[in-house]
Amino acid sequence: MTDIERNELAEILFPHITRTRDEFEQKYPERNLKEGAKVTRFAPSPTGFMHMGGLESAFLDYIFAKQSDGIFFLRLEDTDQERYVEGATDLIKSSLETFDIMPDEGAITGGAYGPYTQSERKEIYQTYIKDLIKNGLAYPCFMTKEELQEIREGQELRKEPIGVYGHYAVDRDLSLDEIKEHLKNNDDYVVRIKSPGDMSKQVTLHDLIKGDITMPENVIDEVIMKKDGLPTYHFAHVIDDHLMHTTVVIRGDEWVPSYPKHLQLFQLMGFKLPKYAHYAPLTKKENGTIRKLSNRKDPEFSVSYYDEAGIPSEGVKLFLSTIINTNFEEWYLQNSDKSYLDFQFSFKKMPTGGTLFDTEKLNNICRTYFSRISASKIYEDSLTYFKKYDEEFYNIMVTNKDRLIDFLDIERNGKRPRKDIATYKDVRSESMYMFNEYFYKDKEETYKEIDKAGIDVELLHKYLEVFDEHDDNDTWYSKIQNLATENNYAPSTKEYKASPESYKGHIGNICEMIRHVVTGKNQTPNLSNILSILGKEEISKRISFFEN
Ligand code: GLU
Repeated sequence: MTDIERNELAEILFPHITRTRDEFEQKYPERNLKEGAKVTRFAPSPTGFMHMGGLESAFLDYIFAKQSDGIFFLRLEDTDQERYVEGATDLIKSSLETFDIMPDEGAITGGAYGPYTQSERKEIYQTYIKDLIKNGLAYPCFMTKEELQEIREGQELRKEPIGVYGHYAVDRDLSLDEIKEHLKNNDDYVVRIKSPGDMSKQVTLHDLIKGDITMPENVIDEVIMKKDGLPTYHFAHVIDDHLMHTTVVIRGDEWVPSYPKHLQLFQLMGFKLPKYAHYAPLTKKENGTIRKLSNRKDPEFSVSYYDEAGIPSEGVKLFLSTIINTNFEEWYLQNSDKSYLDFQFSFKKMPTGGTLFDTEKLNNICRTYFSRISASKIYEDSLTYFKKYDEEFYNIMVTNKDRLIDFLDIERNGKRPRKDIATYKDVRSESMYMFNEYFYKDKEETYKEIDKAGIDVELLHKYLEVFDEHDDNDTWYSKIQNLATENNYAPSTKEYKASPESYKGHIGNICEMIRHVVTGKNQTPNLSNILSILGKEEISKRISFFEN
């Protein structure tokens, strides 16, 4: 085709495109950021499911942009109209809000490099495609599904690379008249690039996470525009990340094999190549084997699972941090006053293979997280949770605010803060005995955990006589020591062990009796604090409840 014919073809295919590449290049100039600032993007497809891999991706984008004073933006990749699900965009937005991973610009907030929804960028893509056609770098391809299928089967049989390339790319050299004929017949077409690739050559991806990966150069005449006029992922990625000035493309490693196509497109377009960081999928151990987390089999793969399970979003982010950088966990344990934002994340420390999604680890890091926040914050955050999921406990929380905060505050501020809470649900289960609504509801239930034999009720009544809710821990303990001595219990386990036959038991047994009768539990936070919160009258009532 001559220059004139190619111009004519471009006009025939894109008569409605009147702008030029240059206009868009000027509209979206280089960003004015400091040296080293990273521009990252989260680019989900609105398919109606937000999974942990997506959240991990957004989190990575967020932290690497934040740490370098860069920009993190959200782009909605909705060019696959068949996969589009109503409401999916809202799910993406609300997930980012819930986890407070808010983009600086993009589909939620807007910004100077928009529109950030691909279906609204058709004119931009087509402007660049029109330009490629004019320059003879792309062509309309009218091959039918059946023709493509036939080629594929032959290639499979001969064990050749699959795709439209070399002599298989029969529409590469159609004349303008032949193309006009197809168009007259209303034949469907896609636009393909004319790949300049050479099968004997190799390209190397310098991946920030995985290191260098060498692959054969792309030779396939890749589709850049589908028959509905929208771009393919490959083309949209190249155009968008160029015009939005992304500096690091952080995406799942299922995209590694597409890199040679992307590299070729960037070169063909004359664009600067961004850096790439391909992260490994989340995996799970099951019956001795390791497999990828799956939408169908693993509820914890869905981002919405965490809210309902009462797992705090900060805990999930800390957990993701342990997945992202293996040295994070140790750092976090050593730095009790720091948040994940203070940690220097690096691509180099990211795992290159599958990453184990260990829910036990999630649980532990949440315990540590809860152990570091104040009782009032736990109260406020769990109030929001229970308002949504458990009205009964929500009401109890509202009427017993001070009592619950005092309870949550026990053993919170010392060197080894308590770690009995991993989820908001635990706030309820760990504190239930503090509330009469539960304690007196069902005696069987209240005392189901404890061994009722051997409880010396008479001794408990004696204890009540000396009890004073204002006593500090030491006074409280010495009173029990006295009680022990007066009633033939050893005042220390050491003394008891020296001659067990001389005593009814030891001081520990008395504490345990009090704990059992007053809380119905084998384990609680510091007993003397619990007793102070409950007060004498309540303790007396509980002793009677046990007797009756
Ligand atoms: N829309 C693509 C996906 O959801 C995004 C991949 C990328 O980040 O480039 O897999």
